[in-house]
Amino acid sequence: MTAGEPQFDELYREILLDHYRRPRNRGHLAAATHHAEGANPVCGDEIQLDLQMDDGVLEEIAFEGQGCSISQSSASMMSERVKSKSRAEIERIKSAFEAMLTAGAAPVAELGDLEALQGVAKFPVRVKCALLPWKVLDEGLAEPAPGGRHD
Ligand code: ZN
Repeated sequence: MTAGEPQFDELYREILLDHYRRPRNRGHLAAATHHAEGANPVCGDEIQLDLQMDDGVLEEIAFEGQGCSISQSSASMMSERVKSKSRAEIERIKSAFEAMLTAGAAPVAELGDLEALQGVAKFPVRVKCALLPWKVLDEGLAEPAPGGRHD
């Protein structure tokens, strides 16, 4: 499999496991305006997102998924950071997160708990796990709002 697993500081490890065991914003939205899903076949990670956009602001977000602790905790942390944010704000947080994971940039305050995933940067295979929820979010936000959605 992989050449090694990311090593996390004790504090970061606690944050990551907390999100993995008690995911925030998990489930579905009855009033979702957008939906997207994606997978990372290398690791077996799957993420489904329900989004509720109102006037350019992501009012609500909920996710379902399965896979490794990195992908699932990243989705949980992401959901906390992007809720009630505009698309421009979401884009800025995503850029900062990507820069931390792929360019070794220092984390910014806006990342909140996402900072805990900093140790993943040294493991390109696992970077894909951490970025999967963001990739799915991108696809969801790019989708035109449907006329109505009924489950
Ligand atoms: Zn994974």
